[in-house]
Amino acid sequence: MQAVILSIGDELVLGQTIDTNSAFLAQQLTSLGFSVLYHQTVADDQSAIAAAFVQACRAAPLVIATGGLGPTEDDLTRQGLADALGVSLVLDEASLSEIESFFTRRGRAMVAGNRIQAMHPVGSQMLANHTGTAPGIRAALHGTTIFVVPGVPREMIALWERHIRPELAQNPGARNVILTAKINTFGLGESDLAARLGDLMDRARNPKVGTTVSAGVVSARVRSEFPTAAEAHAHMDQTLHAIAQILGPFVYSRDDVTLQEELLKLLRQTGQKIATAESCTGGLLSAMLTDVPGASDCFLGGWVTYANQLKQSQLDIPPDILDRHGAVSSQTAHAMAHAALVKSDADAALSITGIAGPDGGTDEKPVGTVWVGLAVKNSGAVNVHTYRLALTGDRPIIRDRAAKTALQILRFHLLGAPIEQITWLKLK
Ligand code: ATP
Repeated sequence: MQAVILSIGDELVLGQTIDTNSAFLAQQLTSLGFSVLYHQTVADDQSAIAAAFVQACRAAPLVIATGGLGPTEDDLTRQGLADALGVSLVLDEASLSEIESFFTRRGRAMVAGNRIQAMHPVGSQMLANHTGTAPGIRAALHGTTIFVVPGVPREMIALWERHIRPELAQNPGARNVILTAKINTFGLGESDLAARLGDLMDRARNPKVGTTVSAGVVSARVRSEFPTAAEAHAHMDQTLHAIAQILGPFVYSRDDVTLQEELLKLLRQTGQKIATAESCTGGLLSAMLTDVPGASDCFLGGWVTYANQLKQSQLDIPPDILDRHGAVSSQTAHAMAHAALVKSDADAALSITGIAGPDGGTDEKPVGTVWVGLAVKNSGAVNVHTYRLALTGDRPIIRDRAAKTALQILRFHLLGAPIEQITWLKLK
């Protein structure tokens, strides 16, 4: 069964307020088995609101609208709804006395403007609001059920929980079960990932697979819709398994689990500890790791050696290496990782040195050139590998991708996966 969500308010169309109500309602409706067909944001304009209701009712049997139920001149949702329904507004005495007692409880007198909040289109029902003054409204047009609730997110959620969800949950038999999941990868471009998934991304397929990118993380989003929960789960599991098989070690987590959480989990499982030595990322790698509660189990600490002087004094990088090869070089990354491992007595150490820009690039070492060093203990000896990254983007992006690539490099190492597969590595 399909649904449409309308958000009403000038502040939303102007971009001053982010529409979080639609995101909340879309997630809730999906979990109840509704297919959300579209969201529409409408200004505080009575005829535009009326037109949006009419169009939404043609499109779907369920419409939920939020906002514009306040007491002021620009709150026109109830009038727009009445126009769409072709009826006038009437006063609901019970709602009026509830609004009056809302003010009395707060020791204030109700202003005349609030009276409009007790009005609703003829034939509709009021939905009591115990967290604010504007009751919600339930109406019907050409077989479509319409719910209108206040825009204040706290009140919208309260009315959803109290009135709308219980009604919608009553008759699940008529609807499919919809499950959603996200598989996160790092180290592959979006088009590369899509090409690898091939037929799995066929638009007619159920479960449907799509991709999204956020901060360098490419995710495969899966939506499984079937008449029963058992079928939806079985098909979801099969598809997730197929995706994981195809994408192999690039997949690091499901849903909202971060790369650093997964890496620390892996380190904990194998009883290993790590240390870091950073230059261009200025502590970002350590910050990512320490974002995870309990990181101290596996993360010993690190060095931020931005200037050459500190690379020498803190990590004993020989001046000769810095003079001959420069701070952004395989040799420096190698020496930094080696020093971090030996000085911390960790099992593995990551180093990062690069040119985050916007200045400082040369033909030989353009902005985005970053070296990552990985030092690991190997039967008493220390093995160090370095990887050259060719990153693009502005300074924050280069720093973020450099830190995440370092995490993924260590993760690949722990899994025994071929590190050179990571797309933006140029092998030494
Ligand atoms: P009230 O009677 O409490 O004024 P209302 O229905 O008139 O309720 P609005 O005036 O439209 O609500 O919005 C009230 C507050 O809620 C504003 O701060 C607004 O920015 C916020 N808000 C409205 N719609 C949304 C939305 N879709 N997502 C997030 N916040 C919203």
